Amino acid sequence: MNLESIQAAESKLLVNTYQRNPYLFVTGEGVHLRDADGNDFLDLLSGIGVNALGYGHPAVEEAIASQSKRLIHISNLFYHEFTAELALRLTEISGLDRVFFTNSGTEAWEAALKLARAHAGQLRAQGKTIGTKFLALDHSFHGRTMGSVATTAKEKYREPFMPVMPDVEFVQFNDVADLRAKFSTDVCAICIETVQGEGGIHPVSQEFLATARELCDSTSALLLSDEIQSGLGRTGKWFAYQHYGILPDVTTLAKPIANGYPMGAMLCTNAAAAAFSPGMHGTTFGGGPLACAVAIAVIDAIKQQNLLDHVTEVGNFFHSELDRLAAEHDSIVEVRGLGLMLGLELSSAELATQVAAQMMERRIILNRTSETVLRFLPPYILERKHVETAISALDDILKINAPAFASASPAGEKSNG
Ligand SMILES: *Cc1c(COP(=O)(O)O)cnc(C)c1O
Repeated sequence: MNLESIQAAESKLLVNTYQRNPYLFVTGEGVHLRDADGNDFLDLLSGIGVNALGYGHPAVEEAIASQSKRLIHISNLFYHEFTAELALRLTEISGLDRVFFTNSGTEAWEAALKLARAHAGQLRAQGKTIGTKFLALDHSFHGRTMGSVATTAKEKYREPFMPVMPDVEFVQFNDVADLRAKFSTDVCAICIETVQGEGGIHPVSQEFLATARELCDSTSALLLSDEIQSGLGRTGKWFAYQHYGILPDVTTLAKPIANGYPMGAMLCTNAAAAAFSPGMHGTTFGGGPLACAVAIAVIDAIKQQNLLDHVTEVGNFFHSELDRLAAEHDSIVEVRGLGLMLGLELSSAELATQVAAQMMERRIILNRTSETVLRFLPPYILERKHVETAISALDDILKINAPAFASASPAGEKSNG
């Protein structure tokens, strides 16, 4: 089947949830994807921050090949060899004590929300005053299930499914006064993406995160950090909260944890974990032997290849090159991010759409998020030469397109190039 016939079949057969770009990929190697016609694309998105080790990494292939021949699934009714081994690695790198495994990001976040409610319930049973309310942030994204969308700011993701989980209030991003005003003993947890991803690559401020930590400590509410996009090395540290020197009570992981094999995890302190007892929460697939074996291989490869330092080094170079472009192009509003989690905010959504499409035409993959932001989430193995290729293409495309968008025409009509 070619691209056209697949498009025709999918349009009849699939539930209409995705607006796919018209490209058909069949294989990948390193930081490149190859389409059905044999063209190579430089991938600066890595399956939305998932393929951290790129494509065809031998450690990942070996873990899948060998473990799939031994044991793929046994359920959580029994022990297997890898759960404890992986949990040990995750607790060592995170500073947290315990792990609950899931199959996706949103399930990890649901586990965090349920844990926060159960934890507050346990405190109430001991006579403490603490409520059931969640504080979440403007521009947040925590996933697509009912609890996750309830804590997700974007109306479009929430409105059609009302009523979602009640008892959520949104706080202005990085607005310490608003956080203090909305916090009370009604709150069971504050929800924070350390670096907002979907919302446009916005790192939370030091003061905001420190205030959230202090407020939670004052009432025994939990600080929930969603590191599904920013975690496991993406920002040059294992967890983005480590840039701040602030430990949350709970954090969630998913995207890069098993390099594309579906998996997620919720990590928490012993004190928070005490709110769950056997039977209160669970999953059929979560933490199976194949997923755990792959995640162990991924973490070990990140360590062996020194990828945290590499992400910092190449990420800083990428950031400074984007800063250089920003100085030359009026159409660039801001450069944001940490490590290899970078965003380039442009002056209009139309320009961002145009630039993303033209980068794809030049066989460089990135995506647009939060309307005006070009998002870069490349594999951790990206090299300087790849950054140079991307920067020179961006420079070119902005030169060609920006003038058409800058001249705000009186009729308000925008060129589509
Ligand atoms: C992607 C993402 C999620 C949801 O993960 P899924 O695996 O798609 O359910 C949640 N939170 C953040 C910060 C994310 O980037």
